[in-house]
Amino acid sequence: MKTRSKKQATLLAHAGRDPARQHGIVNPGVWHASTIIFPTVAELEASAGKRFESITYGRHGTPTTFAFEEAVAALEGAARAIAVPSGLAAITAALLGYVRTGDHVLMADHVYGPARGFATSFLKRMGVETTFYDPMIGAGIADFIRDNTRVVYMESPGSLTFEVQDVPAIVAAAKARGVATLLDNTWASPVFFQPLKLGVDASIIAATKYIVGHSDAMLGVIACTEESWKRIRPVVAELGFSVGPDDLYLGLRGLRTAMVRMRHHERQALALAQWLEKRPEVRRVLHPALPSHPGHAFWKRDFTGSSGLFGVVLEEVPKRAVDAMLDGMELFGMGYSWGGFESLILPTHPEKLRTATTWAPGGPTLRIHAGLEDLDDLIADLEAGLARLDAAR
Ligand SMILES: *Cc1c(COP(=O)(O)O)cnc(C)c1O
Repeated sequence: MKTRSKKQATLLAHAGRDPARQHGIVNPGVWHASTIIFPTVAELEASAGKRFESITYGRHGTPTTFAFEEAVAALEGAARAIAVPSGLAAITAALLGYVRTGDHVLMADHVYGPARGFATSFLKRMGVETTFYDPMIGAGIADFIRDNTRVVYMESPGSLTFEVQDVPAIVAAAKARGVATLLDNTWASPVFFQPLKLGVDASIIAATKYIVGHSDAMLGVIACTEESWKRIRPVVAELGFSVGPDDLYLGLRGLRTAMVRMRHHERQALALAQWLEKRPEVRRVLHPALPSHPGHAFWKRDFTGSSGLFGVVLEEVPKRAVDAMLDGMELFGMGYSWGGFESLILPTHPEKLRTATTWAPGGPTLRIHAGLEDLDDLIADLEAGLARLDAAR
């Protein structure tokens, strides 16, 4: 299928499947495989050079794997994509594709906690140094690039605090010095943002979140240019990363409804954000689509939508008041992995995860995932929670 010229909603419905190849069946099959049988010695011997191009060994991929990768590549406007077992595996493999001992990485200060952890433990032990930078630095990143800098790592918007980065400015500064750029695109997913179109070398997605979309599988994917694929694909093979076919199938199935789910998550989150902004208990709402938010103009320029995840800064209250609010929620669950159909709420501590910048917003920070429940019911749950908070002050 010639997929590149189609819009996202069309790609979501069609990319990565071809009924004519599979008896007219709409969805790709779920291939459980380890052993692949070769009919001749010649074909057995030829397979070594084609392990990422054809079906040669279960770990290197089956038609189910290739269908998912093809779909994500089309959505990201990427040359190719690589499926991996989790979003964190996508982060670690992408970084390992670019660094060796003695190298230097620049990482945004607001990145997903385990990405920071990988840099400060694993990469450090490997002899790779990481400097954390202010996510809002823009073109100023040029001053931090050293001769041994290999990667500028971005996440936009950032975890917990949601600042939107000036991706084209950072990419331009990195390219001028021959430095690669990676970006964690989990929040918007390829439904609302395609970083490769802005010159980013590889887009990292925790498909666990909005692509799977139903809180029932772990899955990661890296969307690559031809060049970044050549660096990252062998690393994924060397690490032995392999994704089970049922999880890939859940990823493929999630893609088909991702646009309608995400448009609804977007509406729900905006409605909750606007309701919360008016509450006296709330100091600030952290949402890229609010004009007051850091990087809002970049979000408006580069993204086609916003997702269901945002932050809230409460007015200063004792911890027991926040606990009283959160312990009694009826619909909002307290859990980490978001992107499913259900609403979530969580106390967060961005101040513990920063070294280049400080986070002192003047009150406790929460993270909310707006699910697909009835909006009035969600607001009633938050209203009751804020009443518990007020009562426990
Ligand atoms: C959840 C998350 C990840 C990790 O994804 P897993 O599939 O849980 O490993 C990576 N980046 C961001 C921004 C995330 O929110």
